[in-house]
Amino acid sequence: MLGNARFVYNWALDRRIKEYQSEKKSISAFTLMTELTQLKKNPEYEWLKLSVAQSLQQSIVNMDKAFTRFFKQKKGFPKFKSKHKGTHSVGFPQNTKVDFENNKVSVNKIGWIKTKISRTFDGKIKTATIEKKPTGKFFVSITVELPDVKVKQKPISKVNAVGIDTGIKTFATLSDGTEIENPKHLKNSIQRLKVLQRRASKKQKGSSNRKKANLKVALLHEKISNQRLDFLHKTTTAIAKQYNTVACENLNISGMMRNHKLAQSIADLGLGRFYTLMQYKMKEQGGNYLEIGRFEPSSKMCGCGVINKNLKLSDRTWTCESCGSINDRDVLAANNILKFALNPKNKTTDGMSGVACGDVGVSQVDEAGTVSGRSLRP
Ligand SMILES: [Zn+2]
Repeated sequence: MLGNARFVYNWALDRRIKEYQSEKKSISAFTLMTELTQLKKNPEYEWLKLSVAQSLQQSIVNMDKAFTRFFKQKKGFPKFKSKHKGTHSVGFPQNTKVDFENNKVSVNKIGWIKTKISRTFDGKIKTATIEKKPTGKFFVSITVELPDVKVKQKPISKVNAVGIDTGIKTFATLSDGTEIENPKHLKNSIQRLKVLQRRASKKQKGSSNRKKANLKVALLHEKISNQRLDFLHKTTTAIAKQYNTVACENLNISGMMRNHKLAQSIADLGLGRFYTLMQYKMKEQGGNYLEIGRFEPSSKMCGCGVINKNLKLSDRTWTCESCGSINDRDVLAANNILKFALNPKNKTTDGMSGVACGDVGVSQVDEAGTVSGRSLRP
């Protein structure tokens, strides 16, 4: 089924590219589904019937979505899926059942599968996706529909608000001075990964030693992403529980990724994921998530409003010539982010608008449940 899902994805991608080359138009997912029905009637492709029909249609939908992302979010051009690389997945849009008591999951056409269930859930089961990781492990993820629970959003409390500055040296610095470091085990694992990758690349291509070495790389990769996600979950949960309002800077992660030197460390830190988790956890708690646009002078502007134009990236602290305050650049940045998120109309002494570029997204729900202010960014 995994092989068939990959085949249909690649076939649909190929059809779409060729159609564009010859006819200069995009073939729709609907047309491809009709063509797929015809393809299955061809005895040469009879094996496609071993899959659930909706699973194969799901592959076409996924290919179509990859194009939408490419056009709308300027993500990379959709790639063909390789049999030997990456994670493979197959979707089951209907008839999934879970037996928590006996640790079993049932999907269409396969039936009951013995499973190690990581958590229980309520709600109506919608879809299931089975994934095969490069480590050879299989995972099933299930989406469920829950009743729409309205968490009452608390009003913004300036007393219990915190600004967060994220960086490369220290993972996150909070405006109250708290520093959150990257976990050491994560750093160690990344070092170890480099060693294993180098070892694997020295083995002869196609050899069984190469395969063994690649599996070691894949296993460590899986471990690192688990460690990272665990760290991000614990950190964001702790922050969301402690504060009523959280203010962050919109860092435009994809823009920063183009700078290759920084790319590795930023990818390692999982900053994008951090903001996504932070935002939904605040929402879950009824708290507020504020985001300001990219704010250049955040580490350069003293509490008194004076900007230190000569601040270098290597300067961790600086003394204000005007008021004499000693500023830690990260704590200062976090405080400025908070200040401008709470009051976007703040002006600096230079007459420069505090919000350097992009706008401030602040939304608040009052007692009656009406949303006021500008919309919160996704
Ligand atoms: Zn000052």
